[in-house]
Amino acid sequence: MTSYDQSNIFARIIRGEISAHKVYEDGDVLVMMDIFSQSRGHVLVIPKAASRNLLDAAPATLANVLTTVQRVARAAEAAFSADGIRVQQFNEAPAGQTVFHLHFHVIPIYANVELGRHAGLKADDAELAADAKAIAAQLD
Ligand code: 5GP
Repeated sequence: MTSYDQSNIFARIIRGEISAHKVYEDGDVLVMMDIFSQSRGHVLVIPKAASRNLLDAAPATLANVLTTVQRVARAAEAAFSADGIRVQQFNEAPAGQTVFHLHFHVIPIYANVELGRHAGLKADDAELAADAKAIAAQLD
């Protein structure tokens, strides 16, 4: 597997070099809105520890990040009255991965509404900011 590249966009966001619509942050994890949102409330849950994806991540990192995935999934469902939640995670480019720092997509699903394209259209910044607050307000 190719090695981890410290200059990937999520590493730069974690280091504070690039801004993001943050939902939640602690010492281990960062949760932010996906700027190419596939549905209202599409969030990325990102461990701060460096790994390219699931395949090279430490077990302790995974245990911690999945707890946050569950919290965020519940909060997004409550914030937008979603009908379901899809959790997605890609490993390497042929599998659909485009940013090579481990992350989990938490994507609210609404009955009879088609998802947007993966990494497709950039969402409106004001909407992302408002949606980040709405999800944060529902975190337990
Ligand atoms: P992957 O294909 O690697 O699973 O997903 C990477 C995700 O990151 C895509 O859904 C894409 O929309 C999102 N993304 C790419 N660049 C940025 C960015 O600069 N900021 C945020 N918040 N999301 C990004």
